[in-house]
Amino acid sequence: SAHRIDVVTIFPSFFDVLEVSLLGKARDRGLLDVRVHDLREWTHDRHRTVDDTPYGGGAGMVMKPEPWGEALDAIVADAAAPPVFVFPSPAGEMFTQATAREFAHEPHLVIGCGRYEGIDERVFEYAARLGRVRLVSLGDYVLNGGEVAAMAMIEAVGRLIPGVVGNPESLLEESHEGGLLEYPSYTKPASWRGYDVPEILLSGNHGAIAAWRREQQIARTRERRPDLLGE
Ligand code: SAM
Repeated sequence: SAHRIDVVTIFPSFFDVLEVSLLGKARDRGLLDVRVHDLREWTHDRHRTVDDTPYGGGAGMVMKPEPWGEALDAIVADAAAPPVFVFPSPAGEMFTQATAREFAHEPHLVIGCGRYEGIDERVFEYAARLGRVRLVSLGDYVLNGGEVAAMAMIEAVGRLIPGVVGNPESLLEESHEGGLLEYPSYTKPASWRGYDVPEILLSGNHGAIAAWRREQQIARTRERRPDLLGE
């Protein structure tokens, strides 16, 4: 059965881009079942209010717990088993390829997109009663909302679902899969504007090519991301 992802957001149209490219095809082929919900569906006032001022003072607005509670209840009521709730947050654990792999094994993710100064903290406690909860950061910077983070996660997770990416071997050769950055890639022509493809790649010597690629991976990882080598 399809891998299911429910997204709760006040900007459902952000996710229209899921129609295009590989993920659109994955949805059409029934591999990925993404359902986007407007949080305002679960408001009951004329203005469809989702935010209010923070207790204790401070700048900005906080997302009210009531619409979130109803949204999570509705999704859980429609689910076969307790889902994993993912809340994008700059205060969360870092989202990595390992997280993507973990999420790709979960049959049902619910991604709750915050806006303003974030969601009332009690929503996370409540969600923990309905399923597992993960607060996940895309990186050490602040976005305006969880939507772009959710899209990045859906794309990283979606392409790991069997059948979404045509050639599964292409997944294995990538940056971060082997703990090293990917080697440089070239295609035709062999000479372009005075730049030549490294000789070795034209040699047909597969052993030498593999060794060269490995060296390149180590060299660029050392230069760009020494943290990956524990240096
Ligand atoms: N006041 C919050 C803080 O400092 O932790 C920032 C809130 S941010 C302006 C609004 C929403 O954007 C967050 O609730 C979260 O959903 C999303 N967001 C912002 N930065 C993010 C990041 N680095 N990773 C994931 N989500 C992020």
